[in-house]
Amino acid sequence: MQIYKVGGAVRDRLLGRPVSETDWVVVGATAEQMQAQGFRPVGADFPVFLHPETGEEYALARTERKSGRGYGGFTFYASPEVTLEEDLQRRDLTINAIAEDEHGRLIDPYHGQRDLAQKWLRHVAPAFAEDPLRALRVARFAARYAELGFRIAPPTLELMRQLSRSGELQALTPERSWKEISRALMEPRPDVFVQVLLDCGALAELFAELQARLAGGDCTTHLLEALRECARREQPLAVRWACLLAPLADPAGDSTALAEAVNQRSKAPRDCQELALLTARFGPIAQHTGQLSAAALFDLLQHFDIYRRPERFEHFLDACQILADAALWGPGRCPTELLRSAARAAREVSAAPLIARGHRAAELGEALKRERFAAVAKVLADARL
Ligand code: ATP
Ligand code: MG
Repeated sequence: MQIYKVGGAVRDRLLGRPVSETDWVVVGATAEQMQAQGFRPVGADFPVFLHPETGEEYALARTERKSGRGYGGFTFYASPEVTLEEDLQRRDLTINAIAEDEHGRLIDPYHGQRDLAQKWLRHVAPAFAEDPLRALRVARFAARYAELGFRIAPPTLELMRQLSRSGELQALTPERSWKEISRALMEPRPDVFVQVLLDCGALAELFAELQARLAGGDCTTHLLEALRECARREQPLAVRWACLLAPLADPAGDSTALAEAVNQRSKAPRDCQELALLTARFGPIAQHTGQLSAAALFDLLQHFDIYRRPERFEHFLDACQILADAALWGPGRCPTELLRSAARAAREVSAAPLIARGHRAAELGEALKRERFAAVAKVLADARL
């Protein structure tokens, strides 16, 4: 059997970028031989094994044929006769289809090195269009390598459009697409990810609500600017997700139905979902804090549970700042310092003096709330002087 390094490890080494994990392909072996050598099979009907010591993935060379819808709709054919070239042909991009042998020699039948030099994200073969996940992967690679000057080859973008039109993106499980979306949002250019999804029609398939909001208006420019800024400011995933869903906010802050619908369909973790909903609901309001009543400001702070969840409130402020700077909800500024001062004042109210005055149980809670409200109202009044 021959073993070759493939995929991201070869690509990133050639790009001079750090390599995080290595994938291997094994030619001329059977599953039984792998297991006899101590490799552990990953799944029952998937010819992938884990190395007994390193835990790295070793896949038997395979070909595949489409047999159903979506990412899982494939029949694999793995056998010792499958050649390295055949295995490389089923891979998504030419830059991901370079193999390296044990002597460091490159096997590159689909000209991945040329595309690396010329900075093209280009599909290997027409079968690219059989797996909808590839549209998301290419958009993610575009987000990752945009800063290096990479762009999508026009024929590949055309296949991505074809994939979007086919409706196959809907056949992806929410877990699978979330994995790609969340990774893409954390890349250096999350705005490029969204731009590519728009260009190939995938955004309409994945987030129809968002597509509807962006269509026609100049909201797109503002959203892309906000996402780009999220990366510049190294914001966490929750802030990036909240910014992505921000166009779904109702400017009056009355309804979060659209953001809720997208949230529910996604497999976004709880902290992302919460921040997105809170931002959709209170972001537009926060921009008008200068004109807010003390009651409305206090209500906002209570909703954030600023006492137990200070970090979430900070993330909200970061999101609002970025969205206001990008003018996503029209011109306006986020009075971050005022909001922060109000939160600090509310937090600093101490229960001890209230207990000393004899307040107890539920009644103590009410008294605490009154004091906190007074503290917030004072900050607001002072700011208006
Ligand atoms: P990353 O740096 O994100 O790990 P990667 O290219 O190594 O990038 P993996 O998901 O680890 O991505 O996959 C390893 C290799 O397997 C890819 O380089 C590609 O050749 C191939 N591959 C993975 N997923 C697909 C897919 N959906 N369709 C075609 N080829 C794929
Ligand atoms: Mg990899």
